Amino acid sequence: MNDIIPKKKILEFGPYLKHNIEPSDVKYGLPKKIQYCKNCLISNQKPDMCAEHEHNIKTIKETIAFNKEGLCEACKLAKKKKDIDWDFRKKELKKLLDKYRSNNGSYDVLVPGSGGKDSFYVAHKLKYEYGMHPLTCTFAPHLYTTWGQHNFYAWLNEGFSNYLFTSNPLINRFITRLSFETILHPFQPWINGQKNFPTKFARTMNIPLVIYGENPAEYGNPSDDYYDDMLMEWFACKNKEDINISGIHIKDLREKFGLNESELEAYMPLSYDEFKESKLKCVAWSYFENWHPQSNYYYTVKNSNHKPSPERTLGTYSRYASIDDQLDDLHFYTTKIKFGIGRAHHDVAQEIRSGDISKEEGESLINKYDGEYPTRFLENLLNYLSFDIRQEKRFSKFFEQPKVDIKYFDDHCDFFRSPHIWKKTNEGWKLRNKI
Ligand SMILES: [Zn+2]
Repeated sequence: MNDIIPKKKILEFGPYLKHNIEPSDVKYGLPKKIQYCKNCLISNQKPDMCAEHEHNIKTIKETIAFNKEGLCEACKLAKKKKDIDWDFRKKELKKLLDKYRSNNGSYDVLVPGSGGKDSFYVAHKLKYEYGMHPLTCTFAPHLYTTWGQHNFYAWLNEGFSNYLFTSNPLINRFITRLSFETILHPFQPWINGQKNFPTKFARTMNIPLVIYGENPAEYGNPSDDYYDDMLMEWFACKNKEDINISGIHIKDLREKFGLNESELEAYMPLSYDEFKESKLKCVAWSYFENWHPQSNYYYTVKNSNHKPSPERTLGTYSRYASIDDQLDDLHFYTTKIKFGIGRAHHDVAQEIRSGDISKEEGESLINKYDGEYPTRFLENLLNYLSFDIRQEKRFSKFFEQPKVDIKYFDDHCDFFRSPHIWKKTNEGWKLRNKI
């Protein structure tokens, strides 16, 4: 044990019972007054996507901006997009690809992804419509779902080579557990890995062009940052000796948790200097084309043996978005705990903005599915976070309770509820300000 993972206390319920919330009761620097976008229903508690290597327990979250009319930044972008000349953007894309296309058929573009609808769409279009020679790459999920694995191969079977990087599962489990303990963000190590691996790999393979599906501005990051080039700050860091992984400073991970360089490498970003020196160009397809996730799904099904999940995805109503990792269920459950926004809420906001569902439908879908308890793969998820005291002593010694059971899981999550979002009632936890 060391001083970084605090000893378990009993949660003080006072702030969750009172009627009037003080500013000091609000966690993570979130806006005290909860507001929902008048158009897409997203909540003003939604944090912007950030450089995760800056994130620790004290981080004050930047959240999605709302204008005076009560509309969010993502809706502002959706409105702006109506005035975009998409034919012109398509020409810009062609110009960019002409610049990078190889003459001898060697790899000329890297497409990171899991083989879900978006990465399938981008890789397939690049190869068969634009005559590029894409190489695909994947940072392996924690625990594949059977349909996720099926779709991964359905992607490659349409004519793509792939580099699959699987980080040491023991270390991945340990780092995921640390992230669960310190910032209730069990998905963070994977987010770091899948964000940092492609640029490092592109550098190694000498493929300077990397094309992603979406830009974070689609989901509410400041739309003024929305250029064809994605911000270097998302992919790289100023100083590799001053970053956090799992909310813990790299120096402490080495000295207090005994992790060595090969064990940390999978989660490390490039430095700004390395990024610039490799002349990497990272762009999002969604800048060049009027991006519509549902259409990408239909395209993918039409052009491959891709299959939706056989069951409704837990916490939401859909069956086709982000379905390859069992830990997805856990991720969206924790966003509900911390920000009051679960998976259905994210899906609804995106589908309203895309014009697929109405606000009324969205409201009832959120109330029906959002924040569902992650029962579906619960045993696997808890095992993933747990360590055996005898066999895995190197890792188990850092935790007061190495095995995560349901009670430990629930109690731990409760510490991350902000009293301005949650109240404690006789019937359990309730949102203070429901849609
Ligand atoms: Zn909105």
